[in-house]
Amino acid sequence: MVENKKIIMIGIPGVGKTSLLSTMVDIIKSSGKSVHVISYGTLMFDVAKENGLKNRDELRKLPVIEQQKFQKIAAEKIATFTEQIIIIDTHAFINSPEGYYPGLPEHVLKIIQPTNFVAVSAKPEEIYNRRMKDDTRNRDKITLANIKKELDVQSGMISACAVITGSPVRLVLNREGKINEAADKIIKAIGL
Ligand code: ATP
Ligand code: MG
Repeated sequence: MVENKKIIMIGIPGVGKTSLLSTMVDIIKSSGKSVHVISYGTLMFDVAKENGLKNRDELRKLPVIEQQKFQKIAAEKIATFTEQIIIIDTHAFINSPEGYYPGLPEHVLKIIQPTNFVAVSAKPEEIYNRRMKDDTRNRDKITLANIKKELDVQSGMISACAVITGSPVRLVLNREGKINEAADKIIKAIGL
């Protein structure tokens, strides 16, 4: 019997999660396996839209209590998916006006029950450049110092997730122009 995997992939904005995931999906599908990718942000935005929100980048500016409500509903939706390989594209924390708040608090982890975490990082200078060239998003003020700070916060948040769930964290560096390499590493590490 093949083991079910529910993988949570985290990384700060612009690190390359979505690009990496699309490469991973191509590789996994080419080996005949089925995989379901879920964007936590999109799911939350869908819930928020039903409640009147218009713009995706407005979501993280809502009062934390509002975001937590949408976050919980999204987690409950994720828990209903039953595919063998589920990969969730999300953030370990969200940069809100009230401060960094966890994307994966204990109550959410208990609902989702992930088997693995993948924490994506990259050189701060590369993240900076990736954010600058991606004009489809309405990003916050970008500085190298902020990016370094965010990488630091990510490391604390993901350690907490591992301790709460008992699931392992695979750290992956998404090197410039080497998406395939990073995708292969994750697939091998988790046995996808
Ligand atoms: P967000 O959290 O905001 O959704 P993300 O982590 O999903 O961000 P992507 O949208 O995948 O980030 O990537 C951001 C930009 O960086 C894109 O323009 C993408 O093409 C580029 N990029 C991602 N990975 C690499 C890489 N290894 N080398 C070069 N460019 C990359
Ligand atoms: Mg993305």
